[in-house]
Amino acid sequence: DRLVTASADGEDQAVEAALRPKLLEEFIGQERVREQLSLVLQAARKRGAAPDHVLLSGPPGLGKTTLSMIIAAELNAPIRITSGPAIQHAGDLAAILSSLTEGEVLFLDEIHRMSRPAEEMLYMAMEDFRVDVIVGKGPGATAIPLELPPFTLVGATTRAGLLPPPLRDRFGFTGHMEFYAPAELERVVHRSAGLLDVEIDPAGAAEIAGRSRGTPRIANRLLRRVRDFAQVRHDGLVTREIAARALEVYEVDARGLDRLDRAVLGALLKLFGGGPVGLSTLAVAVGEEAETVEEVAEPFLVREGLLARTPRGRIATAAAWQHLGLTPPPAARA
Ligand code: ADP
Repeated sequence: DRLVTASADGEDQAVEAALRPKLLEEFIGQERVREQLSLVLQAARKRGAAPDHVLLSGPPGLGKTTLSMIIAAELNAPIRITSGPAIQHAGDLAAILSSLTEGEVLFLDEIHRMSRPAEEMLYMAMEDFRVDVIVGKGPGATAIPLELPPFTLVGATTRAGLLPPPLRDRFGFTGHMEFYAPAELERVVHRSAGLLDVEIDPAGAAEIAGRSRGTPRIANRLLRRVRDFAQVRHDGLVTREIAARALEVYEVDARGLDRLDRAVLGALLKLFGGGPVGLSTLAVAVGEEAETVEEVAEPFLVREGLLARTPRGRIATAAAWQHLGLTPPPAARA
């Protein structure tokens, strides 16, 4: 429901398929991951074998699902897509693994959220292409070994640090995805505008990119809202002014802060003189739950260098005063 959330909503899912780059060459940014992955894939092709398992780590919306599909496409292999939360029992995983075909790519999103028994089954599957299916219960239970065809697991996680080391160690390659630079997001916006038949000039693309929080998914979503505005209120061409006015309507400001972010920052500055103030006090001031403030608003504010979490409480930085166009009290200016 937030325009600037990095996780996918229903509309995103419908449009994203059309906007996904299909080949490594078309994938914008993430130079290091792209180069490393390209080597892994070329080597596998040369050897005529399935490549090592790949772990992609990074925040939502940066292209992990897209890369997994690209890996399959580059290998000319089919892909199966599932996620950690969808695999609650080891049996769910056994069913998926045993139906894979040789060389298939298995994309496991949110791999850190798999159940423990499934995780342990995965260890063996990754290492030996084998699973033990347990039949029966209690003392009479028996393990029936099942051979699997060689496959490539592509795991995705928002934080590689959340993975148990035995699982992490079974990936031959880990790609760390970073937030995108504005220039890269501009290219994403241009590319998507082309695919969606939206006319946009370079300054319009830059304006959208600057408000997209380093995240292609958000850039694509903002582009669609700006397109609506440009078509309904104007002739369809997206310029800097049109993009800025459209996103003002949707309350996404020049740096990508939305209403909640600005409310938190505004309260911190105006009610508490820039802090330090405790999380729960700040949350009450904006009429939100402490968790919402902490998990939804703060990460981006911290990343942007607008807010800092200190042992004495939350404090605003000089950039925060500047961003909201307020003058800090003399003591905070230092
Ligand atoms: P994740 O799996 O990390 O949440 P996705 O792969 O689903 O992210 O990407 C979200 C959207 O952003 C997709 O529509 C995709 O087309 C777009 N996207 C992500 N990375 C790139 C990129 N490097 N170049 C172009 N589009 C991208």
